[in-house]
Amino acid sequence: MVILLYIIGAFIVVLSIIFGISTGTFFGFITHIFIGTVIAIIFFALARMLDLLEALFMKSEFVHEKTSFSKLQEQIACPNCGENHDSGRKSCPYCAHRY
Ligand SMILES: [Zn+2]
Repeated sequence: MVILLYIIGAFIVVLSIIFGISTGTFFGFITHIFIGTVIAIIFFALARMLDLLEALFMKSEFVHEKTSFSKLQEQIACPNCGENHDSGRKSCPYCAHRY
């Protein structure tokens, strides 16, 4: 989808150059290239936006995976107070007992 937008943008630039040359006048050439470039920039901007959205979506997915992973982390019982908490801690969050 994003690549398609880039291709369309590049295609429009090429097309505008061809049409510009076909007009035979310098003014026509400049006008066509200008319009073509503006349209191409819009397409490139759209492609860039979609790219960023995709990256953002991937990132949120990754964060979600990370949080669900920490939820699945092993629980251990504190030897001092007996409360369950995540393993990998250096001290108990309930009684502050240090391991
Ligand atoms: Zn404890």
